Amino acid sequence: MSDSTATRAATGAASAGSTPGGVGITLDKVTKIYAGQGAPAVDDFSMSVQPGELVMFVGPSGCGKTTTMKMINRIIEPTSGSIAIDGRDVLSLNPNELRRHIGYVIQQIGLFPHMTIAENIAVVPRLLGWGKQKIADRVDELLNTVQLDPGTFAARYPKQLSGGQQQRVGVARALAADPPVMLMDEPFGATDPITREKLQAEFLRLQESIGKTIIFVTHDFDEAIRLGDRIAVLSDRSQIEQFDTPANILSAPANDYVRSFIGQGAALKRLALIPIADATLSAVTGVKNAPTVAADATLRDALDALVLAGLPAIDVVGGDGRAVGSITVDAISAVLGAELPGVPPAGA
Ligand code: ADP
Ligand code: MG
Repeated sequence: MSDSTATRAATGAASAGSTPGGVGITLDKVTKIYAGQGAPAVDDFSMSVQPGELVMFVGPSGCGKTTTMKMINRIIEPTSGSIAIDGRDVLSLNPNELRRHIGYVIQQIGLFPHMTIAENIAVVPRLLGWGKQKIADRVDELLNTVQLDPGTFAARYPKQLSGGQQQRVGVARALAADPPVMLMDEPFGATDPITREKLQAEFLRLQESIGKTIIFVTHDFDEAIRLGDRIAVLSDRSQIEQFDTPANILSAPANDYVRSFIGQGAALKRLALIPIADATLSAVTGVKNAPTVAADATLRDALDALVLAGLPAIDVVGGDGRAVGSITVDAISAVLGAELPGVPPAGA
């Protein structure tokens, strides 16, 4: 991965001994007041993002998410405060150079309409002076990564693709030069719910293999829960109301603002984060032709299956198709109860 090493060196990251797959980002007392505006759009924002971490910014429209993100790659200059990537002050780096080494997926996809899909993905590698063959190979590789067949899509123009396909190209373009940092501003915002869910699943698989440091903006709390290692719940002027793991935010919201963001069904949302392995299974039911649930699924999947089946218990099956036990609604409630501090588990 010599390109990645070059990328890190160019963003100021140490090329030797740095954490593989991403670098840390630190924002310290960052404020932005737009010209002619009295109130700041971002007010005294401080945060540390760990190398390889996927941090979600979630908050209502206009709360300052995009402004905060754009200051990291210096599309917008902060009024005050400092931002460091892998310990180096971004304000000391050449902004054009900096931007080439941070993958950026913008809110409205932003593909160049007059360029083919291949040319769109090749923009940054070309700026970096890569050879023709290397660029062509990389474009093919990236199209495969985002599950678009290069033979079908490389020579097309953006308007010949669906919204969801364009979003994938936007992600491929941001990944092109293998940047250690990705900033993604509502990257799946323009898609229908089904496409969005597919893109989210693909994105999770992708992040497992590439392990970059990612800041991902969304106004969709469920998307934040599904994707994030940690979530920053933001209110007006980019104020951080809570910054924690999805599980901790769901089980212990910091205040009413966060609670209102979680909305209804916090318990159900938490179930989607807990693997079936965390529940105490009962004996295999042995009921023939009854619905089952996979052992690597979540408690939410198990609950859905139980409700659909209308049975008191359903079998949990391993990868080899053999039942390893059965699960019940009580067993699921017990896990939720056990997780709540100070609340005895159900049945205790
Ligand atoms: P979000 O991405 O959370 O929707 P933004 O960061 O785009 O929020 O905007 C935060 C606030 O700053 C809003 O009140 C918006 O109107 C204002 N704002 C954004 N861009 C500009 C600009 N270029 N000039 C003046 N005000 C702006
Ligand atoms: Mg925005």
